[in-house]
Amino acid sequence: MSLETLANFVDGAFCPPVGGAYWETENPYTAEAWGLVPRSGAEDVERAVVAAKKAFRHGPWPTMAPSQRGAALYGIADVVARNAEELARIEVRDNGKTFKEMFAQVKRIPDWYRFFGGLADKLNGAVLPSDRPGHMNYVRHEPLGVIAMVTPWNSPLMLLAWKLAPALAAGNTAVVKPSEFTSASALRFAELVFEAGLPQGVLNVVTGLGSEAGAALVAHPDVAKVAFTGGVGGGRAVYSAAAGGLKPVSLELGGKSPNIVFEDADMEMAARGVVAGIFGSGGQSCVAGSRLVVQRSIHDRFVARIVELTEKIRLGDPMAPETDIGPVATRPQFERIMTCIGWAKEDGARLATGGVQVPDPSGGKALFVAPTIFTGVRNDMRIAQEEVFGPVLAVIPFDDEAEAVAIANDSAFGLGAGLWTRDVARVHRVAAEIEAGSVWVNTYKITSQTSPFGGYKASGLGREGGVEMIADYLQTKSVWLNLTDEVPYGFPL
Ligand code: NAD
Repeated sequence: MSLETLANFVDGAFCPPVGGAYWETENPYTAEAWGLVPRSGAEDVERAVVAAKKAFRHGPWPTMAPSQRGAALYGIADVVARNAEELARIEVRDNGKTFKEMFAQVKRIPDWYRFFGGLADKLNGAVLPSDRPGHMNYVRHEPLGVIAMVTPWNSPLMLLAWKLAPALAAGNTAVVKPSEFTSASALRFAELVFEAGLPQGVLNVVTGLGSEAGAALVAHPDVAKVAFTGGVGGGRAVYSAAAGGLKPVSLELGGKSPNIVFEDADMEMAARGVVAGIFGSGGQSCVAGSRLVVQRSIHDRFVARIVELTEKIRLGDPMAPETDIGPVATRPQFERIMTCIGWAKEDGARLATGGVQVPDPSGGKALFVAPTIFTGVRNDMRIAQEEVFGPVLAVIPFDDEAEAVAIANDSAFGLGAGLWTRDVARVHRVAAEIEAGSVWVNTYKITSQTSPFGGYKASGLGREGGVEMIADYLQTKSVWLNLTDEVPYGFPL
């Protein structure tokens, strides 16, 4: 099969990498390479940042009326809506998640561009009451400049929208470095939105490895801010590199989110929520509910029900409508999952179901892992502390509410948490005590452009979504005007 050759998208045009290096990208389901992706280096990043800086300073973008900028974001929303099926297929070919999941996800992306497009002409400044006689003082909110956006492979276009929509609404320009495993969708997206009228250089995409193109982009002196989603290791490296340039950073990192089930919960609702919360996307989700913290009085009954539901999950072709979970996205990820399963066994957890590689149902070479549940887990075991990013659930019993909260919070992470109970007073008590950026009550994994999302502790810095977070893509200027004819002269301030 001949391979498709991809190119970076810089200054409104596709261009090959300066160094001429590529790597093969693979479809996780067919386990075959389908394309050649540019392995970009510092020179490619330089071109993209120069283009983004030029578009920020000159050309139509900085002089557009804010309402026109908003209209440009509506244009992006429309183009994504029109091409959602094609974009979802591109995602599936690269990350192996089911088409039904990726299509549903891509169809919600326009909401982000519309929401933030609507904010573009509402970024009000203020005239402040001045306590300096004879002076007026007002405040302007201005864009930062070129924003570097670094994204992971699990939900590439959605996580890009979480950054790009507010950044563009605020008047910035962008250089995107998508995951090395899922470069194609960002490139096609950039082409589509350029064709739909986004000015040249406002959105640039450079593909490559995190340690090469990613690191060069984050460290570039003309990058004003870095918005990163990925693992803790990458996040730490990005944070320190950005510190060198004193750049603001937002980090959306990993999780080890607890689903806490109390004995008064609606059992069936909770069981379905817990199973979907961990096994949706094959566990390859930052908010996967990978710890089940369940009251001891219902433990056995609840575990029996989730095992029953789990054993009905269908693995297979991600494009087939009946498939619940596609293959693991990459070989390193598969190896990581099997390593974590090994730790759980070594540390004395009991396997309730799964725990093994499943042969590819189509007879091919795709990597599948059986949805896995471990019981008898103590919260200090590695399987309860480390993010697996795969279909592995650790079940930890508790006796009372205080213990449930203590277990939930005994984690380096703090991204999400689920509470399953019918006791309203307990909902509010526990929701307040949980150290996590999102708490879901009798539901799980709900997100929206209207609501802030992000992590406590090692799960990240900053929030994405919600009106206030657009401030992260703006800087504030205070302007003082002398209203008198006197020229102030003197040295004391
Ligand atoms: P990763 O950290 O390996 O890579 C993420 C991106 O960062 C990639 O584009 C990669 O090339 C780049 N990168 C890595 N090191 C870099 C460096 N030193 N400098 C610049 N760029 C660098 O993560 P992944 O394996 O692609 O994604 C899985 C991780 O992402 C999981 O930990 C998951 O929890 C997390 N995630 C978090 C959220 C969230 O919103 N909190 C959402 C999705 C995924």
